[in-house]
Amino acid sequence: EDEGEQFEFQAEVGRVMDIIINSLYSNKDVFLRELVSNAADACDKKRFLALTESDSPPESMKLRINSDKDARTLTIEDNGVGMLQAELKENLGRIARSGTANFVKELGSGEADVSLIGQFGVGFYSAFLVANKVEVYSKSFRKESDGKTWKWSSTGQSYSIVDASDSALFGDQSGTKIVLHLREEAQEYLDTGKLSDLLKKYSEFITFPIELYNEKVQYDQVPDESAPPPKEGEKQKMKSVPRSVFEWDVMNKMKPIWLRNPDVVNSSEYTEFYKTTFKAFDEPMTVTHFKVEGQIEFRALVFIPSTMPFELTRDMFSPEGRAMRLYVKRVFINDKFEDLVPRWLTFVRGVVDSEDLPLNVGREILQKSRTLKIIRKRVVRKVLDTIDDLRENDPTKFESFWTSYGKYFKVGLVEDLDYKDELKRFVRFWSSKSGDNQTSLDEYIGRMKEGQDKIYFVTGEGRRAAEIAPAMEKMRLKDYEVLYMVDPLDEICSQSIVDYEGKKLVDINKAGLDLEKSEEEKKELEETTKEYETLATWLKKQLGERVQKVQISDRLVDSPATLVQGEWGMSPMMQRYMKSQTT
Ligand code: ADP
Ligand code: MG
Repeated sequence: EDEGEQFEFQAEVGRVMDIIINSLYSNKDVFLRELVSNAADACDKKRFLALTESDSPPESMKLRINSDKDARTLTIEDNGVGMLQAELKENLGRIARSGTANFVKELGSGEADVSLIGQFGVGFYSAFLVANKVEVYSKSFRKESDGKTWKWSSTGQSYSIVDASDSALFGDQSGTKIVLHLREEAQEYLDTGKLSDLLKKYSEFITFPIELYNEKVQYDQVPDESAPPPKEGEKQKMKSVPRSVFEWDVMNKMKPIWLRNPDVVNSSEYTEFYKTTFKAFDEPMTVTHFKVEGQIEFRALVFIPSTMPFELTRDMFSPEGRAMRLYVKRVFINDKFEDLVPRWLTFVRGVVDSEDLPLNVGREILQKSRTLKIIRKRVVRKVLDTIDDLRENDPTKFESFWTSYGKYFKVGLVEDLDYKDELKRFVRFWSSKSGDNQTSLDEYIGRMKEGQDKIYFVTGEGRRAAEIAPAMEKMRLKDYEVLYMVDPLDEICSQSIVDYEGKKLVDINKAGLDLEKSEEEKKELEETTKEYETLATWLKKQLGERVQKVQISDRLVDSPATLVQGEWGMSPMMQRYMKSQTT
């Protein structure tokens, strides 16, 4: 009975559909959250397009939800950006996002939870949890749409797209209307009471009005015929008769959370906002909510996730993994701008709402904006304060922060000259005395020996390799603590630290290591050098160009000889790393 040409779903979509249609998963509510969030995204996109690509401000946007008990349909409509014919095909027939294949696999084997569907860019298909037929009417806001409305429709096996411009659904406006033909076992979603509960839950943090066509009981006053007729001068007795009426009811009346005073927001509200807005399933590790007034004005709400965001697990700087939402006077602008926070804070999630930026901000304008530079500085400051607070008052939490995000800070140390010095106090390394916990540079300095004026480190592939480096023999003998740089990032980072609190960082594996010597030790070295001079010359002759020089030294205790790099040379680990980067 489906009209028009039938198209096949891409194989991955087919698999998602099979799983959803046959799902025994009992909590089907998620479909509403997904469709509402798509509708809100579409409104955001239209607002942004209207600001950047046309000069007329967009009409006010909203979402409307309507159930029809006779037709057994539930309709979700928005006047957002809409979709072109090609976009319907692209968005509702294929899966673009990477990582989805994995989700499908886990879902199939019962490891993943259907309610996570939204995180994997396939939220739309959750409509089939409750519907055996889905129709999507859409008219795009873009000029290329030529004013046409298209109807996408599917019962789950394949889909069709036909011209539905006659339906006169959207008038001059653009938008999308999704009609769900509810399955037998999903009739509960026709009930406005149930819908109202769900919408209140899912829509609290959505900045567009969400209206439900809500059934209400109204009482009409009508003459009471059962009463005796009124006497002279008396009024006719009246009675109340209930009548059910429908009206559009706004479900989300609260101010956006970041506009509220931090004192009146509790932690479960923050968590709920964090989860719904950033499609996260963990609790935030930290919440930083503040307001800046004066020369520039903005509000910000920033979260550090307690587990690394999914999009960043494969590529720590993936642009997809950015999620700082920029608003200008409550209008959502973009959540992928690179300039809102530095690269080494890619993992934070949050909202910045500015009063000063122009509404039609394009990327180029933003990049040059002085206001944005100030906002960025203030946000970084607050986030660093939050992390400092963890560092000083909650070591366990700080440790888990460092385990997840330490590598970002190490990169920041290397590439961000503005924050290089600040980031040093957060860095943690393993060391010969760190035991089970990594050590900070401050702690290292606190343990320094009398007269020690340098911070020593050794490189190696792993703690064990660092520990048994021949150069460690002497350090152990002299009881100096040595930091272990166990991955290439550690080493790059150590080069960029250079010094801390006036103490130079020194690689014990490089030439030029001058530990303090007693008179006796100096004399001993002099004598040994004389004694083995001929051997050294002979060795150099044998090894030729393979070594720079052969030197008698006192840096070893038990081992007879070791290879060291020149003071400015690269360690073997670094050389291997550089090689692997260029191939
Ligand atoms: P995601 O929202 O994570 O991208 P979905 O499966 O929920 O994944 O939606 C797929 C795509 O379909 C969206 O990215 C969007 O381009 C398009 N889409 C879905 N619903 C709407 C809508 N109401 N209006 C416009 N586009 C929509
Ligand atoms: Mg979605």
